[in-house]
Amino acid sequence: MVRIHDALDTATSASDSASDPAQRDEAIDEAAFDQHLDEIPQELNEPADAGPSERAVSVDVDRRDAVNQQPDLKLVVISNRVAPFDPNKPQTGGLAAALEPVVQRSGAVWIGSSENRGDGSEHPLPLVKTGAGEVARLELPAKDYPGYYRGFSNSTLWPALHSLPDQMSGSEEDYQSYRNINDFIARAAFDVRDRDAFWVHDYHLLPLGAALHDLGIERPTGFFLHTPWPAPDMIERVPNHRELMKSMLEYDLLGFQTNRDLNNFVAGLRAVFGLESKDDVVTTERGQTRLQKFPIGIDPKQFAEYLAADLAPAEHEKVSSLLRNFEGAKFAIGVDRLDYTKGIDKRVEGFNQLLRNEPHSISLLQIAPSSRADVEEYQKYKDVVENAINRVNNKHGTDEWRPIHYTNDSFSQAALARLYRAAKIGVVTPLRDGMNLVAKEYVAAQDPQDPGVLVLSKFAGAAEDFNENEALLVDPNHPEEIAAAISKAANMPLEERVARWRSMMDKIESFTIHDWSADNIRELDKSRLIIPADECLRFGLGWTNEAQMPLYRRHAEALAAYNDIDPADTALKEAAFEDEKRAYEALQAPLIHTQDRLWDLPADTAPIGGRPEQDPGAAEY
Ligand code: UDP
Repeated sequence: MVRIHDALDTATSASDSASDPAQRDEAIDEAAFDQHLDEIPQELNEPADAGPSERAVSVDVDRRDAVNQQPDLKLVVISNRVAPFDPNKPQTGGLAAALEPVVQRSGAVWIGSSENRGDGSEHPLPLVKTGAGEVARLELPAKDYPGYYRGFSNSTLWPALHSLPDQMSGSEEDYQSYRNINDFIARAAFDVRDRDAFWVHDYHLLPLGAALHDLGIERPTGFFLHTPWPAPDMIERVPNHRELMKSMLEYDLLGFQTNRDLNNFVAGLRAVFGLESKDDVVTTERGQTRLQKFPIGIDPKQFAEYLAADLAPAEHEKVSSLLRNFEGAKFAIGVDRLDYTKGIDKRVEGFNQLLRNEPHSISLLQIAPSSRADVEEYQKYKDVVENAINRVNNKHGTDEWRPIHYTNDSFSQAALARLYRAAKIGVVTPLRDGMNLVAKEYVAAQDPQDPGVLVLSKFAGAAEDFNENEALLVDPNHPEEIAAAISKAANMPLEERVARWRSMMDKIESFTIHDWSADNIRELDKSRLIIPADECLRFGLGWTNEAQMPLYRRHAEALAAYNDIDPADTALKEAAFEDEKRAYEALQAPLIHTQDRLWDLPADTAPIGGRPEQDPGAAEY
């Protein structure tokens, strides 16, 4: 396939050989556009990219290298929380764990909330350098924060998205605060409006894309939902769900963890708006929104490195003292934020049943860092879990043996890697979960010669990646299933454990967190390319990136100035030529980087017209 960048290469080399800038300009316009217009139908006939799940089966090294070198897309990442950017500090959420490497490596700006609240007054974006990227932690307005965070995000949306309607509460004021905070963040992001694209994360920020558009920011916007998206009858219980879903259609790209979530969203559009999507593209008055599955992964290499490196002394001691509790006996591990969606209480009941049938057989290490402790439902859940654990320990424990060891401490991922490795069973039984990174981390930390077994909820997103020949899949609402699976795992022959583990590990290695972010970003990048092909002459040089228009204009001015100068005035003419040359080089530089990304027109997006009559030389910029 000849792509536009080949055409541009041709055009560029033609222009390089032309000493006269006027000739050069003409050469670029004609060669590039003639060839490009001929190419477009072929581009559109290309089959769509395989989805991530197909790709996950075999990803070659070249591709992995390629995706790890992120394109020079100047990205703005926005999420409620920002990672601590400290390898010794715990990541208490999948989102933070996922995005930290993206920002560190690709030079993105990451905007999120700080620990402090503000009075709502607006300041320049407080950018702080971190690795190749920058982070801005915003002091969100104190007045609206509780309604936004504790209220609408975590008391209304979170339970609804996890299909737990009994946990839902909230008020209209909460929703207003949620909107206010989204508007506040959008205004803060206005400072970086010239960047190439905006990538927004999670349920706290559903309407942020619309808020960015309201401010006149027209860069491509993508959204990734880390949680599940529920069935229509569940989302319809969320107050203002129509407005929210409508605002979600302002994003160019909506990413989901699983097919189940994506299909639920499509069904929701149909139920709420009577809106049909075609090939996972939704067309509205605003334009097109692409829906896509991007199953989040981890960095398995990093887990191997964690296992090879020493822990800081204090954490080493913490881990050793925990492990001493088991004295070499088999134990299972659960690692979850203390959240009612994680099904910890049902898991504990599973242990109760297991120990009733097989006394003294296995213990559990349950790590459950506190989470959202200011939300009432979470306080209640903490009591539920702790009472259940005490009951099991009182019933089945002895003076020498405690069945369940429980801590609210957080651990670094390096410490977790050691604990995962020591545990013969990973118990990941959320009632519902977007993905559940702990499931993947547990697998990644195992000894290939003697791996443990993963017991996994069929309602975790990870269960779309790992099938029943790999993990032991259970219904997390049924403690007896959990008990049976733990018993099976504890007695599983080595050969079967290795076979199951190898298969899961292959999947983890073939679609890492870096592949995940690269896929997201590449898809987001395609949203820049929505200029109808019959319009492209107006944009000179196949110009699709509005951010680079000033360079084009600068070059056009320099060229015009050069042309205006009398050739007899040699000195002036030469100075103008040098100036034009510099402007041309500045114009050319970003184009070279972006060539690969030009003109990947999304199918069905652009009316493909014939060749425009307009004179290429009469470009408007
Ligand atoms: N985590 C951690 N220290 C802890 C507990 C958890 O660093 O003490 C990390 C864990 O390694 C994982 C993330 O927090 O990367 C939890 O992500 P998951 O998808 O399992 O659940 P979420 O908290 O996002 O619902």
